[in-house]
Amino acid sequence: MDGCIFCKIVRKEVPAKWAGESSGAIAFHDVNPQAPVHVLIIPKEHIGSVMELNPGHGPILEEIFALAQTCVKNEKIAFSGFRLVMNYGPDAGQSVHHLHVHLLGRRKLAWPPG
Ligand code: 5GP
Ligand code: ZN
Repeated sequence: MDGCIFCKIVRKEVPAKWAGESSGAIAFHDVNPQAPVHVLIIPKEHIGSVMELNPGHGPILEEIFALAQTCVKNEKIAFSGFRLVMNYGPDAGQSVHHLHVHLLGRRKLAWPPG
């Protein structure tokens, strides 16, 4: 996807602070962090949102969550806790239309979320 900011990060046309990588996924620090740890985990291939997922995406989803586990371990927040979030649509404030999981941690996170 030519105009997609996250595809540009995957291709390294836009810089990002790297947090990890596997064969099909990358993790990088959010440019506007909402917590002391705020990492985005995304597939290298362009998938627009959770609503575009189909059964064929099973392996890449597994990879995304495996990379999230690695980031949790690297950030040493497994004991204190963390939150994984996927926003979809206007009510959730989704702003980038390339599938991504937010990893938030190292502070107390309110529930229910705002
Ligand atoms: P959404 O609101 O779609 O769930 O999350 C998109 C996230 O991507 C936001 O938290 C936003 O700060 C982050 N973001 C948008 N553009 C960039 C960018 O160019 N670099 C990085 N590192 N994060 C970005
Ligand atoms: Zn994309």
